[in-house]
This record gives sequence, C-alpha cells and structure tokens, in this order.
Amino acid sequence: MSDRQLKGIGVSPGIGVGAAIVVRWTMPEVPHRVVPRSQVEKEVRRLRAAVKDVKRYLQDMRAKAEDRAGVDEARIFDAQILMLEDKEFLSGVADLIRENHLAAEKAYEFKALEVRDMWAATGSPRLKDRLADLSGVTVRVIEHLMHRGSDERWESITQPTVVVAKELSPGLTVQLDREHVVGLVSEEGTRTSHAAILAHSIGIPAVFGVAGAIERIEAGTMVVLDGTRGTVLLQPTPHEIADAQAQELRRRELASQLEEVVDQQSVTTDGLRIVLRGNVDLPDEIKAAQEHRAEGVGLLRTEFLITGHTALPSEDEQTAYFRRVAKAFPGHPVVVRTYDLGGDKLPAPFRAPSEVNPQLGWRAIRVCLDRPDIFRTQLRAALRAAKDGEIWLMIPLVTRLDELERTRALVAEEATKLAREGIAAATSLPVGVMVETPAAAVMADRLAAEADFLSVGTNDLTQYTLVVDRGNARLAERFTPHDPSVLRLLKMVADAARTAGKPASVCGEMASEPLSALLLIGLGYETLSVAPPALPLVKWTVRQVSAARARAAAEQALAARTAAEVLDLLRIALAEAVDLKLLDLDSRLPAARRAASLNV
Ligand code: PEP
Ligand code: MG
Repeated sequence: MSDRQLKGIGVSPGIGVGAAIVVRWTMPEVPHRVVPRSQVEKEVRRLRAAVKDVKRYLQDMRAKAEDRAGVDEARIFDAQILMLEDKEFLSGVADLIRENHLAAEKAYEFKALEVRDMWAATGSPRLKDRLADLSGVTVRVIEHLMHRGSDERWESITQPTVVVAKELSPGLTVQLDREHVVGLVSEEGTRTSHAAILAHSIGIPAVFGVAGAIERIEAGTMVVLDGTRGTVLLQPTPHEIADAQAQELRRRELASQLEEVVDQQSVTTDGLRIVLRGNVDLPDEIKAAQEHRAEGVGLLRTEFLITGHTALPSEDEQTAYFRRVAKAFPGHPVVVRTYDLGGDKLPAPFRAPSEVNPQLGWRAIRVCLDRPDIFRTQLRAALRAAKDGEIWLMIPLVTRLDELERTRALVAEEATKLAREGIAAATSLPVGVMVETPAAAVMADRLAAEADFLSVGTNDLTQYTLVVDRGNARLAERFTPHDPSVLRLLKMVADAARTAGKPASVCGEMASEPLSALLLIGLGYETLSVAPPALPLVKWTVRQVSAARARAAAEQALAARTAAEVLDLLRIALAEAVDLKLLDLDSRLPAARRAASLNV
C-alpha cells in the first residue's frame, strides 16, 4: 500500500477520485532572437501590447476569483497586476530591446531574471509568494509574446480529473471547473500559498507539498486524493475508492451538522452549560471566532504585536488592539495574556540573551517582571482598554505566588498613575494566572485563593510535567497531554478553583479536540478556549455528551496507567454518544469494544 500512497499537506479538504493529468508548467524556452534596428520600436510596441493584454486577462481572473472565492481571495491577483504595471520594470525591458536589439520576449526574460536575483538576495520571508507571482507574470507575458496559449487545454476536460503539477498558479486555479477537476496535487506550496487559498475557497480538494509527484504519477493513472489527510493514493482498488467515498460522505454529513450547531447553545445533554471561547493569536482570527460565536477570547496572545516589527509596540498601539478585540465580543471577556517572550517565542525587537535551556530560562512573566519598562506599557494599555471593554489580564508561566502579587502591585500603580495623568482607564481589572507549570498546578489552591481566575495552558503543562520539549519532533510521541500525570494536575486545578469559588478554564490545544473536550468537562472544566476553527466541532461534541458520562470517563481515566489507556477509555465513552466514524476516530477504537459500542 505505501508505495502507492504519497503524502503531502492537505490544503483543501475533501476527497477527489479521477484520472491524473500532469502539467509541466515551466518557463518556456525563449530563443535568443535579435531584431533589425528598424524593428526595435515595433518590438517595444509589441511588448506594451502584450503587457496590456495580460493585464486585462489578470483583471478578468481577479473578477472571476471575486465571484467564485470572495473579495479577500481576489486580492491575490493584485500583486501580479501591480508587477505588470511597474513602470521601472517595463522601461528596463524596453531599454534592453533598444540597446541590444533583443526580441521583446528575450528582453522580458532577462529583466525578470535580474529582478529575481535581486529579490532572492534580500532573503525576505515573504519572498516565496513574490517569486511565484513574478514567475506567474513572466510566463504569461512571454507565452503571449510567443503566441503560445497556456490555458486552452483546461477547456477540453470533460471527465473527473486530478491535476498534478510542480507548482500551481492562482491564475490557473481560479479557472478550474469544479465539475471536472476533482482534485489538485502540487509538489510545491503550503497551506498559505495563494493557489491553496483559492482551491479551498472554490472547494476543490487539494494536497500540496507532495515530493516527486510529477515523476511518480503518470498521466492517466487513477488517483484518490484526500485533501483532509493530505494523501494521494495511486491505482486504487474499487474497494479503496468506495471506502474513500463513504468517508467523504460522512465528512460532509458532519460538516452540515457543524453548520447547524453554530447558533445553538453549548450545553450537554443533561443540561450543563459549557462556555466556549476562542484563542486569538493574530488579528485575522477575530473574524473566525466571531463567526463561530465564541463567547469572548479566552487567550489573546500578544507576542504578534512584536513579531515581525522592528520596535516594541507603543502603549497606544496596544490599547487600540485590545479595544478592537473587546469591541468584537461585546458582553464577553477578552483575556489578554501578558507577553510570553523567551522560550520558543523570540521576536527580533526583543533581544534575549542566548541560553542553554531557554524553555527553563528567562521567559514570560520572569522577563516582564525584570523589564518593567516593557511590562508597565502593556499593563497601562490593558487598563485603558478595560475602561470600555471587558478586559481580563492573564500571566503566563507562573511558578510562584509572588509573581501574581507583584503583577497586581504594578497594575495598581499604573492605574493610579493613569488617573493622576487624567487618562481614561479602568481603576482595576481581573488578574488571572495561567497554570502551565507543575509548580502552579501543585500550588493551585493558593493561587486560586489569590487570583481572579485560573486558565490551564496544557501545552506547556504537558511539556514541563513530562519533560518533553513541545517542539521536538523526535519526542512527539511522548508529548501526550492525556498522560495520567497531567490528568492528576488538571484535576487538582479544577478542584482548587471550585473550592475557592473562582472560574477555571483550559486554553491549551487539547481543548480543541473532541476526546479531550469530553475529558476536560468530566474533570470539572466548564469553560474551554479553543482555536477558532475548532469551535463548531467542540460545541457539537458538548451537545452530544452528558456531563455525567464525561465525569465517569474522567474518573476512569484518572485511574488509568498510560496515556494510551486514557485515550481508549475516552473513545469508548464518546462512541456511546456519537458515531466515531464521523470523526474519523473509529479505526483507533480498541477492536474488542468497537463492535460492541458501535453496533457494527
Ligand atoms: C499553553 O502553554 O498551553 C498555552 C496555551 O500557551 P502557549 O501555547 O502560547 O505557550
Ligand atoms: Mg504556554
């Protein structure tokens, strides 16, 4: 099976079954042609006319993208249109024609190579998309000048087809007809490449980053492409095709159930209300959180305010951002997590000394307390935004009580100063602790007594409890938030918060996933903060299960010996409420129980 299966990144979900057509879309061979001196101006005119035609074509594609994919996606074409309009570039090409008597296509090719080399030397992180745009424009102009059309072949596709390419351009992707092109495979590209974004919006399943696809997939080969899992299966048997299609049907069924759930209450079958908030790392996630009806933001990461900038953000900038987020969720809290710098988060303007063990080093609240200049600015911004929005403050990587006490003291000092300065700001705001170290979990009773709320960061809590670097791929199998040791800590924190009468939530990644959501509810968490795209799935899960069953499962899980045992128990509990096949979890249900609990 494995020599028939290629692996890539699923960039647009869904299953496509069809015969492959392989596109070798490369820069055309441009002959070195010179023109007589008398023809030079004609050649320049030919260049201008070609650029004009290609621009018209791209504007058409832009309109098509707006129609098929949406206004934001259509902007993908702006970069190419701007490149075409670049006066300096065009006069550079015209100069090459005039000075060297080159044919327009050769001159265009030379100039594009020169620009490509110049850009490549800058090493900018956004280079890949810019280079792809440059190649896209160059190929189009040159093909036009050489009277070679590149798109006609698409019009003749009438059978279900999977397009296999080295790299897919947005211009090509937006034209594909979903009726007949049932999937896209590309060697290059990631989830964020332009063609991937368009394929997703248009709804064509796609797998990108498939190494060697062009060599390994022969034209005409039948292919089952799974854009959710990121796999491409060659020469599938009828049974494999039927399996894939059944899987796709179930996914669609789940998707339609998830759509319905958006406007429904987040409540278990036995009436326990579970509050679902969104984790927002970047401003563009606000929209997804709103659309999925997040009840506020349970974790507003603030590192992005520094990442990619040359200087630390000002108080005004931060105030504006916090206000903007608060305004997006009226009536709900927005939990601003103070800077979690250091460790794995090292934006350039924040110059941290290099350390042997950065994850155990100068990180998060430690940095903030040592650099009150940075910290006070952020606290003032939070206080100012809290004047008209429900802003809560949360401190990461707490290991000692005095970190909370010192933060509170700084908040109080800045509130007094703001009042003295006559600047509109709240006089105080709720201050909570992120429980993401074993020290904080063990001290949860004391922290809960002093903090206004607790929120468990299971990513770091797992890392520090199991002593497994969260970013180390070699240890990925050991990174198990379901380990019984982590579960015990989660239980201690939930109990401590309940005893102290303070709210507790979980904002680590595990909360975004159905089995863990069930476990966390069972352990006593009534607020979960999850990645915005996962909100419907978590709400759907909440609505299928009973809190009583979740509690029983959590109790069993606490008595389990290993993370694998915990997962088995959770699968069994969830299978009583939902068809695990819908969640693609059935194959991982323990075999003996699968038959019993799924009635198969
Ligand atoms: C966590 O550690 O679980 C968490 C939510 O914070 P981050 O992933 O930003 O470290
Ligand atoms: Mg963390």
